[in-house]
Formats: sequence, structure tokens, C-alpha cells
Amino acid sequence: MNPSIYKSLLKLTSDELLAKAKKLVQQERVILVEILHHLLMINDKKLYLQMGFKSLFDFCTKELGYSESAAYRRIQAMKLLKEVPEVKQKVLSGGVNLTHLAQVQKVATVERKQNNNVISKAQKIKLLEKVENKTTRQSETILREFSPLSAIKNDSKRVINNTQTEIKFIADQELLNKIEELKNLLSHKHVNPNMNELLHTLTDLALCEVRRRKKIMNKEESKRPKRNHNKITSAPKKPCGKLKYRNQRYIHPTVKNEVWFRDGGCCSYRDPQTKRKCESKFQLEFDHIKPVAIGGDSDINNLRLLCREHNQYMAYKNNLIKNKFFKLGNS
Ligand SMILES: [Zn+2]
Repeated sequence: MNPSIYKSLLKLTSDELLAKAKKLVQQERVILVEILHHLLMINDKKLYLQMGFKSLFDFCTKELGYSESAAYRRIQAMKLLKEVPEVKQKVLSGGVNLTHLAQVQKVATVERKQNNNVISKAQKIKLLEKVENKTTRQSETILREFSPLSAIKNDSKRVINNTQTEIKFIADQELLNKIEELKNLLSHKHVNPNMNELLHTLTDLALCEVRRRKKIMNKEESKRPKRNHNKITSAPKKPCGKLKYRNQRYIHPTVKNEVWFRDGGCCSYRDPQTKRKCESKFQLEFDHIKPVAIGGDSDINNLRLLCREHNQYMAYKNNLIKNKFFKLGNS
């Protein structure tokens, strides 16, 4: 403990010390509610996207400095607060804490995803009442009775060392049957492969197929000399009889490939102020920097890779600019 703080606390009587601790805990609850409201506003305004983060979770861990579990709990609680504003009073009174909120929201998410069961606001309030003033273990037991699936840690990862990670997930019977069939088909090449070896084979096959469909070559393939040395950097401008070439949104596969490697296969959005780059590799899309609607073409210089979140954010911003422009034009 900081020596000066320790010294000042030593001067307090036991009653004063307890009263001050209680006061601080109450202040902590007030701050928690304020933080959740702030996160809600940051989420609604999509400020994390403007700052170059791929998600609110990314923003909470990298910008606010929360641990992954702390960020997860706060985001879950924020979602619950949005739907159930009554949460605020329950937190301030000390009846429920951050863990209770995250647990209830997790149950709702698991039920919706796994059982297609949408938990209503009234049900969430009832669940909150049930876990009120309960310990974490007690509330886990209560919620497990309501939703047995929510108690199972699905898709969990545990880093073992620099090169190995333990992954746990729930496999349904259909998947187990497919795995068994695959093992049998591969049995001449690999006798009884373990899950790591099997997933290597599967992901190699899947990556090859997905890259082929998306017309993305891997780095080695892209370095091979091509038969046609004329580098295509834009879609053919003249109509060549095929409808797709007349469509200005159409992007030639070679152009897609050039853009993909130029942008490093990740989102190229940058915060205009800090220049922070998103670099997400999730749900990547080709974005026309100058929209096609206002004359932009499918040239390599007018294209960039954006994650879906940033693509939608840019579309939203462009719409705002367009609306502002039209409003000014009409006034
Ligand atoms: Zn992005």
C-alpha cells in the first residue's frame, strides 16, 4: 500500500474506516452505472469505428485498458442496461453487481443463439430478481436451472504457450458423424489423426476452396509469372458484350487480388486524427472510395479493403455528407 495512504487511514477509527469504505463502494456503483451509460453512447455513436477500432470490445481492451473478461462483462451489462433501464436502480442499491448483469445477458444470448428462444424484458427482470443479493456461485446455479446450455463454456480458448492454445467447443451429433466419415476417408493417408491434424487438413482444403471462389491467390501464387504480363489495374472500361463488365460496381478478379495484397488482406480504415489503422481481417469487403453512385469507378486506386463495420460506417458518413450537401443546396 502507498505509505502516505496507509498513514492517513491509520488515523481513522474503526467506525470511520468502515463508513468510508461503504461510501467508496457506493461511489463505485455510481461510477459503474455512469461507465455503462458512456459505453452505451460510444456504441450508439459508433465512436470506436471512427477511432479505427473494429469493435467496442477492441476499444475497451486496447483504448480503455480493460482486461478481456472485464471488457466482456461491461459490454454485456451495457446491453442489458439498454433493454432494461431498471438495472440502474438495482446496481445503485447494491442488489445486483456487474457479474449478475453479465450472467443474465449471457443467458439471453445463449438462449437466442442455441435454442432460438428470445428472452423478453419481463423475463430478464425476473431473472435479475432471482439473482439479487446472491453470490456468484448461487446465481450460476439459479441461471443454470433456467438455461442449462448457458453454463457450458462453449468456444473457449486457453493459451498454453506461445505456439499452442486449448480450444473447447460443443459438437453436435451431425458434426461427429462427419468427422468420423472424414477420418475413414483419410485413413489411407493418416491413420487415426488427432483433432489438431484433422483440422489442419480441413482448414487447408477450406482455405484453398474459399480463396479459389474469392479469386484470391496466396502470396506464392501471386509471385508466379503470369501468361499475360499486362497488369490489369482496373475493370475494362469499354462494354465487351457481357453485362457484368458494363456494371461499374463489377471488380475484375485481378484488380481484387491487387487490392487485397496492397492492403495486406486487412481493413485499411484509419482514424483521420490519430492515423490508427483498424487492420481487422473479419468480414472484409471491397469499398469504392469515391462511390459508384457519384461517378467512382472500379479502378485499383478507387478501391480499398474495409471490414464490414467500417464499410457500413463509411456508407453512413457518406450519406450524412450527401444529405448535408442536398440540404445546403436546397436552402
Ligand atoms: Zn475495420
